[in-house]
Amino acid sequence: MSDQTNLTNFSGDKKAWPVYITIGNLPSARRNSPGSMAVLLLALLPIPPKLSKSSKADQRQRKINADTLQDVFELIFAPLQDVAHTGIAIDCADGKVRQCFPILSAWIADHMENVALHGLKTNACPKCEVPTHELGTNARSHRTRDYARYQRYKPENQNSGSESDDDHIMCDNLGIGQNIFHRLDRVSASDLYKPDMLHTIYLGLFKHMMDWIEGFLKKHGRLQAFDDVWKALPPYPGFLVPKKAYREVTQWQGKEMRNLGRCILGVLAVALRQPGGAQVIPFKRALGCVRALVDFNMMAQYRSHTSDTIAYMEDYLDQFHKLKDIFLEFRVTKRTQDKVDKQRKEIRRQRALVIERVAPSLRRRIRDDNRQEENDLCLDLVRGESHFNFIKMHLLRHFCDHIRQFGNIPMYSTEIGELAHKTQIKDGWRQSNKNDAVRQIVHSYGGQHAIRMRLLNLESLKCRDADVSGDVLHDLDRPASTVTAAAPVVPRRVLQGSREDVSNVVDFSRISGVSREIVYRELIRYSRHNLPAAHRLPEDHAILRSLPVELLTQREIPVLALQEADVYEIHRARSTGDLHFRNQGSRNDWVWVQAGTEEMYGALRGRLPAKLVALLKIRDYRSDDTVRRVAGVQILTPVNSGRLSDQHGLVTVQMREDPRGFTIVDIGTILGLAHLIQEEDRRWLINSRIDLRTFNEIY
Ligand SMILES: [Zn+2]
Repeated sequence: MSDQTNLTNFSGDKKAWPVYITIGNLPSARRNSPGSMAVLLLALLPIPPKLSKSSKADQRQRKINADTLQDVFELIFAPLQDVAHTGIAIDCADGKVRQCFPILSAWIADHMENVALHGLKTNACPKCEVPTHELGTNARSHRTRDYARYQRYKPENQNSGSESDDDHIMCDNLGIGQNIFHRLDRVSASDLYKPDMLHTIYLGLFKHMMDWIEGFLKKHGRLQAFDDVWKALPPYPGFLVPKKAYREVTQWQGKEMRNLGRCILGVLAVALRQPGGAQVIPFKRALGCVRALVDFNMMAQYRSHTSDTIAYMEDYLDQFHKLKDIFLEFRVTKRTQDKVDKQRKEIRRQRALVIERVAPSLRRRIRDDNRQEENDLCLDLVRGESHFNFIKMHLLRHFCDHIRQFGNIPMYSTEIGELAHKTQIKDGWRQSNKNDAVRQIVHSYGGQHAIRMRLLNLESLKCRDADVSGDVLHDLDRPASTVTAAAPVVPRRVLQGSREDVSNVVDFSRISGVSREIVYRELIRYSRHNLPAAHRLPEDHAILRSLPVELLTQREIPVLALQEADVYEIHRARSTGDLHFRNQGSRNDWVWVQAGTEEMYGALRGRLPAKLVALLKIRDYRSDDTVRRVAGVQILTPVNSGRLSDQHGLVTVQMREDPRGFTIVDIGTILGLAHLIQEEDRRWLINSRIDLRTFNEIY
């Protein structure tokens, strides 16, 4: 793995070009987690000076740079060459010794890095021989790159003439330079390339897509609507709620773009609601295109796949390519814009000559017609000149094949490099005396690493009850050394934040604004539906009123992450602040309530979103002091029986006007938080792209 980085944020000229190593036998979740010590700094590469394109002297310098890089890498790879053939005996964690063949199997880097290492042109694919004019199409199967063949046909090696002349020409056209991996035995250089979410999707296509969307919104007068929805997004675990209008945000890094992927479809759907007559079709296409790309991105994050999920991904990609032309006019380059301006000027010049000969009374109408025609002509030119042929567009093509061949996408993330930069490069740079810093950087992390590894080993010995001396055990038990993964614990559901001012149903009714009659009625209904006959709540209002009630403000709900056996996200469902449940301004979270069976409510499959109004503990002193934990919620009803909308593929829900919307449910039926985007008064869209679990459940 390699990735150039700036050493400081303040002066741009201090750069480092680190190479890291990790081993493929580690589970990827462990390797990708910070503090796992799984990624090691191997070398800092020399950074060549910036060169101009043309000058002869620079060309010579370029060749020297390439040769130097090749030599450095040969030094780095040398220990791998022999053992790749003969193998090496390695002590394994289970106490056995095995004959291992360490082979370079992946190179994680962003596109420009790959270009440099594989010796390619900037817009060439490291994996296949796709021609530039097809980068923006969804054409499958171009010939896989065979770097060994290119090497044979380099100008200096032109003596082997066994293959056709076409190959010579092709290699020349491709401008293939030095591939630093080509001399490695048992390694196929084209397989080293790994798809990368961070640079291809978040910093690549999502950034482009936002430019297109901005142009589209401007054209249709919906920019303000978009900003309004953007600023009003509700919170959700792990989701960064935007604090500024979209147009005011200047820093868009990987984290922000990933966040954007979780809400863009819903925000756009609301911004484009109620299209005018001529807008229906373009709006539908734009939403369809964004939806396809967002869904492709969602599914690319899955940690395990079936042939079905891969087929879905191919469908999303097809759909994206089919609909992307709706945004073509917003891919205007500067050159195209110049051409358009020139054409516009020329049209106007000719028109001016014509219009002089027309009677003044007719001029106004002719001018209006002309303006329309002029705009149409310019749009035609823009559409003819613009294209989607850029490399990141094409790289999506390799995601599905990669999953088929190697597993999942997140496994090889460039993000682990970003983490490693901080601990292994930048901290070392800061602690160095800035003088011959390279050596100091390499050494500064080495010491830390040795100690952490020793701790991990001792910790592991302790877990196996090996003979470890008492003072070592004592030190290990100190919290500072917790680098271990303890046995997974299933988190408990916890109720928190008791309020002092509520001790019975009457208090609750006063504070929440729900009438006493409704509270009684709902408690009795809950009791009849959920509790065994012998343990029901009293139905006499006077007795119900005498039961002690505790009102709480927060409920922690562990929600199992998608495709994980022991990773939980803690959802904190709150009902705090002003408890009046019809007051829209209060902090009452949206939650999912299990309201029926799987066949009910269309895509929602038996679950309904609800506003959490209250969390209550009711002590039934007549029945062994049993505590009933219940939640007061206001359940939303699905529009169109919970079917996904044709326009944007999301489900719309609404809140009933009458106060009967208040319902009491068992606290166990609350499944977690929901993410709703307000469409209009009392109507919301369910944002099913907010996390993988919701995406996987609502379709
Ligand atoms: Zn390719």
